[in-house]
Amino acid sequence: MELVRAKEALKKYFGYDRFRPMQAEIIQNILNQQDAVVLMPTGGGKSVCFQIPALLMEGLCIVISPLIALMKDQVEGLKANGIAASFLNSTQNSQELAITENMAYKGEIKLLYISPEKLMAAGFFNFLKRLKISLFAIDEAHCVSTWGHDFRPEYTQLGALREQFPTIPMIALTATADKLTRKDIITLLKLRDPEVFIASFDRPNLSLTVLPAQNRIGMIQRFLFNHPKQAGIIYCLSRKSTESVANKLQNMGFSAAYYHAGMTAEERSVTQEAFINDKIQIICATIAFGMGIDKSNVRWIIHYNLPKNLESYYQEIGRAGRDGLKSDTLLFYSFGDVLVLRDMIVANQSPNTEVQLMKLERMQQYTEAQICRRKILLSYFNEDLKENCNNCDVCKNPPAWIDGTTIAQKALSALARTGEQVGMGMLIDILRGSGRQEIIEKGYNKIKTYGAGKDISAGDWQQYLLQFLQLGFIEVAYDQNNVLKLTEASKQVLFGNRQVNLVQMAVIQQKNQEKKEEAKPKSVTQTLKDELFDLLLTTRKEIALSEGIPPYLVFTDATLTEIAELRPIFETEMKNISGVGERKYKQYGRKFLKVVYDFVLEKSKQNKKITGGTYLLTLDLFRQGKNFEQIAQERNRGVQTIVSHLAYLYENGYKIDIFQYVSLQEIEQIKEVHTKMMFVEGIEPAKQIFDSFGGTIEIEKIIFALAHLKRMNENV
Ligand code: ADP
Ligand code: ZN
Repeated sequence: MELVRAKEALKKYFGYDRFRPMQAEIIQNILNQQDAVVLMPTGGGKSVCFQIPALLMEGLCIVISPLIALMKDQVEGLKANGIAASFLNSTQNSQELAITENMAYKGEIKLLYISPEKLMAAGFFNFLKRLKISLFAIDEAHCVSTWGHDFRPEYTQLGALREQFPTIPMIALTATADKLTRKDIITLLKLRDPEVFIASFDRPNLSLTVLPAQNRIGMIQRFLFNHPKQAGIIYCLSRKSTESVANKLQNMGFSAAYYHAGMTAEERSVTQEAFINDKIQIICATIAFGMGIDKSNVRWIIHYNLPKNLESYYQEIGRAGRDGLKSDTLLFYSFGDVLVLRDMIVANQSPNTEVQLMKLERMQQYTEAQICRRKILLSYFNEDLKENCNNCDVCKNPPAWIDGTTIAQKALSALARTGEQVGMGMLIDILRGSGRQEIIEKGYNKIKTYGAGKDISAGDWQQYLLQFLQLGFIEVAYDQNNVLKLTEASKQVLFGNRQVNLVQMAVIQQKNQEKKEEAKPKSVTQTLKDELFDLLLTTRKEIALSEGIPPYLVFTDATLTEIAELRPIFETEMKNISGVGERKYKQYGRKFLKVVYDFVLEKSKQNKKITGGTYLLTLDLFRQGKNFEQIAQERNRGVQTIVSHLAYLYENGYKIDIFQYVSLQEIEQIKEVHTKMMFVEGIEPAKQIFDSFGGTIEIEKIIFALAHLKRMNENV
């Protein structure tokens, strides 16, 4: 029973027809007054899990969220859906605070977002005690744990909530899946025998690609040509590289900006707003960017540098495609980054250095893997993906193996002859016979294998050496300036006792090139869809601008895509589109219907076949003041057809004054006959009614009358 109401609320407020996996169970659990822990990936749909109970339960739902920047957006998003919500945090002045507190007190809002600092401020619990609270939702609950990657000391005090409000249900939500964090959440928040919901962390709409970090800017340029106008983020390790990458892209004519913690708060917020509002396409950022944004139409993520662990990586790529549409992710991998990150971790001297180094190693293994990447990722999060995903570079471009024994022998023997005193770059130079001064000085040009690998490019050598590392034929001595060392296994190779299988370099090269998609001619359907989508984007942008909200809060890309595909021209059709709830229909529905209407009409005028076009052509002539006969003649159709076009439009909500043609009295008469009649199949009902009247009422009247009855929901 309650779930029926929950589902109604989902449609009414959010415009969605069905719950995503787990949402219904979680909502039911809360409605039963049970505590819950929810682990769901970014974009999985966590918010709905407490927002719907908040709507259905009596009283106010308090949402604790550490992301002040996000609060405003979330509250605006709720308001756009017709849900009364507000927020309290330290950025507001006393007057703003007082207004919100008053609304909460009077029961005028259903959700109140609060920052943890605010919650713990002196006297605030007294205020809360005066409210009727239905539910506490702790968002980003992993912040309570020092194991998580985003520990916030304020969060540790949230346990006080449970003590002060022992009977109010509590739901803790996070996208961090690891077990220690989960345990911390339960104990530190003092949850009461909570039900733990773990959703799948798979995000099948995100493609996964890893490329060697060579010619990164060139690769990015190519990537961007395949993602015209689509918003995305390029994550860089250093502030300096965010600036230089952004500059290079700007010089190529892209709309790009940079973002890092060294900028003033003002500069940062201007940049962030511009990105959120679709005014800047590309942000080159340090990981400082993204935590505070909820933009659902980020279409791609590029990692210019290696992330420090798979959690961060997954969270960062998770910022793409929250709307569920296909999105691409690309990671550039270089061994140099591994070394830099290692040094950073070691220099930090935190108590869990070992753990962090291990996590870095897992990250590295991921990039070097030759099996489905999604399998690796999900297994890291303790999930087992049965089938290959077919949406990662390994699946799309499976490795081909070559006998690399000779190649390995050349490299390993060169390494041995340097006395295992060189790093990767130097070893490659020796193999390729570089005349670099240092090589001459150290006498490396005299060793037997000097120049023995000239036929292989430096880039390819890099890849081969990485494979040797992966295969355990070399090791890095981190404590000796990262020079390479031989291993037991490499001795077997050197003495010819072991064959070495390597991934063919051509496969890797092909991967590099793969991205330039061949220009297949687009289908007519696709062209229409793209054209309409562009028009819808423009309208969305105009509305967003005039309302001062981000475009994706008007409608998500997913909603616009569905509109572009289904081309609704009637209210009911528009309301059936996913993401069009009651309030949004009221606010924006007609504007978007008009865009589709104009589009369909224009295409029909150009003689393009398009669903609904014939009705709109008729209507257009009718609106020009032409009568049925004139329209019939012009359109080369029968009068009856013209009338049924108009009747059909009227029936579905169009404004057409049918009472010029049929009176209410006549409609009543027709209705009466209709209710009594037994209809024969295969003959139009209007015709049958016409016959039963013996021709005393014109068929046009009957057609309009039936349309009217249907429009009034009379069962005809
Ligand atoms: P999270 O907080 O888990 O990152 P959100 O709650 O922001 O995710 O939801 C991500 C997106 O999915 C939002 O655009 C949201 O409106 C949408 N969404 C949530 N539930 C559903 C659903 N049942 N059907 C369709 N879309 C949904
Ligand atoms: Zn795969």
